[in-house]
Amino acid sequence: MKDYLVKALAYDGNIRAYAVRTTETVSEAQRRHQTWRTASAALGRSLTAGVMMGAMLKGEDKLTIKINGGGPIGQIVVDSNAKGEVRGYVSNPEVDFESTEHGKLDVRRAVGTDGMLAVVKDVGLRDFFSGQVPLVSGELGEDFTYYFATSEQVPTSVGVGVLVNPDDSILAAGGFIFQLMPGTKESVISKMEERLKTIAPISKLIEQGLTPEEILAELFGKDQVKVLETMPVRFQCTCSKERFANAIAGLGSAEINAMIEEDGQAEAHCHFCNEKYLFSKEELEELKRDAK
Ligand SMILES: [Zn+2]
Repeated sequence: MKDYLVKALAYDGNIRAYAVRTTETVSEAQRRHQTWRTASAALGRSLTAGVMMGAMLKGEDKLTIKINGGGPIGQIVVDSNAKGEVRGYVSNPEVDFESTEHGKLDVRRAVGTDGMLAVVKDVGLRDFFSGQVPLVSGELGEDFTYYFATSEQVPTSVGVGVLVNPDDSILAAGGFIFQLMPGTKESVISKMEERLKTIAPISKLIEQGLTPEEILAELFGKDQVKVLETMPVRFQCTCSKERFANAIAGLGSAEINAMIEEDGQAEAHCHFCNEKYLFSKEELEELKRDAK
């Protein structure tokens, strides 16, 4: 089954909701970065929230999420856009701990709790929106919930989950975000508060193999959900050898000459997807000519 995202309304338009399956997306990230189990869960939860936040944008808009809680994983960086494309990395992918007493991966310990979650949205026309909140949990789902409530001032619930196999591969990943629209009826709010108390944790729903539509049905009740749109999502980087070539040319001929003299070649590395691009001496000579 391919990864996809569902946009929906619930309770006669009182609630805007997103649910997503990200198993393949997180698997791709895990393979590229060779993340260990707890790091996979932290990065996977962030990618899952990120791809849903991207789906809230329009057209060519995009956003970047940076999380740094002072934990051993370092910084988590996620980029996403309105087309279901997401990419991301963590500073230190080789982080894993014993599971917590509840048998869960100890994401809080990997991420840390002393730091910030920051979001920058590039919404075109040189217009930027940025918001930043202190981490309140380190488990990330709650931190995104707090971000929406505080920075965007929209009552929101975020659930993200990643299940990892003993061999480090990804068993399943996904999540949901729902938001109360302005003027949501009291009766709907109290109904949702009740439901959130009784619903199984998102990791359980994912473990059961629920589709995004089934997650929404579990949250709101099947007859309360109106699906607006479904879209494929995937791990997708924007890097290319040409882009790096332009960046190298931009360094100027003196700098390129130094590369040629010192190493006789150059290797460019994309943090987001861990791809490496090798530039030979001949290619560097050509870039030097272009650079002037
Ligand atoms: Zn890349």
